[in-house]
Amino acid sequence: MSFTHEHDLFRDSVRAFVAAEIAPHVNAWDEAQGFPRELYRRAAHVGLLGLGYPEAYGGTPADGWFRLVATEEIARAGSGGLMASLFSHNIGLPPIIAHGSAVLKQRVIPAVLAGEKIAALAITEPGGGSDVARLRCSARRDGGDWVIDGEKTFITSGMRADWITLAVRTGGPGAAGISLIAVPGDTPGLERHALAKMGWWCSDTAQLRFNHCRVPADHLIGDENAGFRIVMENFNGERLLMSAGANAFAQVCFDEALDWARQRRTFGASLVEHQAIRHKLMDMQMRISSTRAWLHALVQRHEDGDTGPQWVAELCLLKNHATQTMQFCADQAVQILGGMGYMRGTKSERVYREVKVMMIGGGAEEIMKELAARQLGL
Ligand SMILES: Cc1cc2nc3c(=O)[nH]c(=O)nc-3n(C[C@H](O)[C@H](O)[C@H](O)COP(=O)(O)OP(=O)(O)OC[C@H]3O[C@@H](n4cnc5c(N)ncnc54)[C@H](O)[C@@H]3O)c2cc1C
Repeated sequence: MSFTHEHDLFRDSVRAFVAAEIAPHVNAWDEAQGFPRELYRRAAHVGLLGLGYPEAYGGTPADGWFRLVATEEIARAGSGGLMASLFSHNIGLPPIIAHGSAVLKQRVIPAVLAGEKIAALAITEPGGGSDVARLRCSARRDGGDWVIDGEKTFITSGMRADWITLAVRTGGPGAAGISLIAVPGDTPGLERHALAKMGWWCSDTAQLRFNHCRVPADHLIGDENAGFRIVMENFNGERLLMSAGANAFAQVCFDEALDWARQRRTFGASLVEHQAIRHKLMDMQMRISSTRAWLHALVQRHEDGDTGPQWVAELCLLKNHATQTMQFCADQAVQILGGMGYMRGTKSERVYREVKVMMIGGGAEEIMKELAARQLGL
């Protein structure tokens, strides 16, 4: 398959939503280091938050192509920070959907998909993020509760999340001692501190400290000490969406650079008439097209049920390829825009600052290569 008429209609509706509700505000939201909570409700209203989730919880079942369309269209606003925070539930909820109890699902999911509550995922710790198997934040059983102690860092939507899907150590050392617990944001003992960063300004990013936080025992997601596998499964979905987002932001840079190159004149000709500039644009196009072809192939294979080692390996490499495409295109676009590309308010300037987090978050480049090599039996 690929895109059908339904996908095209959906694309039109998301494009209209982004043009009306997001694009005009992203510069101001970035400068203000936040966007209105109300946007979650509006995004839910047009079906964006519930896309691909079961109807029973207020979602709209949809194939991977719809999610790809949504990602491409939201990227048009040129803000990765907006995308990361508005859709942080796409990394926070899947473990609960796949492994939570029926009661927990009802407690958490409908309100998040309705845009009334915000969900986040907290894996990374001050001591390290890549080596998930060594995480230290702990939870121990005390009567009918889990008691949680420890720290998490760099958590997207961490400041205002109402639900935090938290990775904790409930057992011995290593991957076999990790569990996931859904922690309500108003749990006594939870401290949050906002972190300042290079890009993604309108996205809140937090350090979290859990001081003897008590959470009901039935908030465990899946079996005790079976969390590591769930975390790894969850990364696959995140990496596919990040790859789609990275290529979409590369396209945003291309579009802005081409537009500029057509309007701007130097030495008696428009920029695009200068061969060196046309070649930059073609170098961008070449990377975007090849990334898109690979992305589409992996989406199709996923739709066909292929999530085997070869698919996972290619996904890891695609994430690297897509973020490198984004980096290259942001760099070229800023160059084509000249001084204007260095000014706040152009999309390329923002994407240039935002690309690094795409190369680090959701599994850093080096880790992606290691994981791919292992999946391929090297
Ligand atoms: C803006 C932002 C938002 C984020 N949002 C979230 C979130 O919502 N939830 C969450 O849990 N985390 C989040 N993260 C954290 C992110 O996932 C981690 O930063 C990432 O996994 C890397 O972990 P680290 O920063 O601890 O780096 P480290 O693990 O300390 O690694 C540092 C560097 O060394 C490299 N490295 C590590 N081990 C090896 C090795 N064996 N061989 C070669 N190189 C190696 C890494 O690739 C990396 O480049 C976010 C990060 C940022 C910046």
